[in-house]
Amino acid sequence: PEAITVQELANRMAARGGEVVKALFRMGVMATLTQSIDADTAELVVQEFGHRVKRVSESDVEIGLEGAEDTDTDLQPRPPVVTIMGHVDHGKTSLLDALRKTDVAAHEAGGITQHIGAYQITVPDGSKVTFIDTPGHEAFTAMRARGASVTDMVVLVVAADDGVMPQTIEAIRHAKAAGVPLIVAVNKIDKPGVKPERVKQELLQHEIVVESLGGDTQEIEVSATQRINLDKLLEAISLQAEVLDLKANPNRAAEGTVIESKLDRGRGPVATVLVQKGTLRQGDIVVAGAEWGRVRAMLDDKGRQLKDAPPSLPVEILGLSGVPAAGDNFIAVENEARAREVSEFRQRRARDKAAAAAGAGRGNLTDMLA
Ligand code: GDP
Ligand code: MG
Repeated sequence: PEAITVQELANRMAARGGEVVKALFRMGVMATLTQSIDADTAELVVQEFGHRVKRVSESDVEIGLEGAEDTDTDLQPRPPVVTIMGHVDHGKTSLLDALRKTDVAAHEAGGITQHIGAYQITVPDGSKVTFIDTPGHEAFTAMRARGASVTDMVVLVVAADDGVMPQTIEAIRHAKAAGVPLIVAVNKIDKPGVKPERVKQELLQHEIVVESLGGDTQEIEVSATQRINLDKLLEAISLQAEVLDLKANPNRAAEGTVIESKLDRGRGPVATVLVQKGTLRQGDIVVAGAEWGRVRAMLDDKGRQLKDAPPSLPVEILGLSGVPAAGDNFIAVENEARAREVSEFRQRRARDKAAAAAGAGRGNLTDMLA
């Protein structure tokens, strides 16, 4: 496990360094301000100071944001969240558009589709699937760099007439690094003379073994523009979702990730967020990145006003103080005082990180002693 210096831990808790050293001493750990302690010890100290702890990763101890852990009985099935990736011009946008049109709930909404960075469709059997629309590779990388994991699976689009290309390989690497399963959509099979078999062979070289070659990666031959096998692709997604056994507790304060955001001239800061835990309600006080505010209005991808948003639903929210970044965590909190506290903590942490990055070249005492 990675470590945190005593000073940095003190900074994060807005505590004096000396107090942290004393607390450690009481726990039988001798450490100076510049020395590092492991994440487990840090967690104990944080609790000692009366904060709640959230482990963002092995090394990153975030303070006081975590609600109670969900138990099995709290958890309910939630729709899968799918990201479509692939080489440029292989048909990602076309496929997203084609899948959006399969939405059986779209008609009752009057067919008005507002373009936000993610959308949810209802498939004929009544189950739902969420597609993340924005993450090109860069957005995906940026989100992962922020520790955000939004997607449950990746649909890898490979054009049958072009085969595996550099961004295909990049997408495979991203999915593997994120530990997210892939479904291969061999696209443009309507084109005369294309050889989908070739794509499967090429994928083998990148350790993607499709089912027809004895592997466990589902592979569907589709045409986005001719709307061929979209139902099979949706079935493959459902099957993968079943295997993953995706669940969340809808009965808690909402938490999730910012998908995209902008400053709208008329509406002010607007963020598209994906609810990952809990239910987000109109009127909730939320912190998104270091911004906060009361959710004044909430809209789905069809532009409908919502009162509440359950897990896996992407929604646009209005009412934030500023524009958060894609990949930022958002969380609903009990009151404005708490929102300010969390926002300040995050601002401080961002400054610390920037300072650490600026000083990284110089080396520090801990490094020299190690
Ligand atoms: P993206 O860059 O991956 O988002 O690719 P696009 O969706 O923009 O598609 C690139 C081009 O391929 C466009 O001209 C599409 O019309 C075309 N295209 C996409 N899917 C298909 C398909 O299934 N069959 C054929 N024939 N053309 C397709
Ligand atoms: Mg595109």
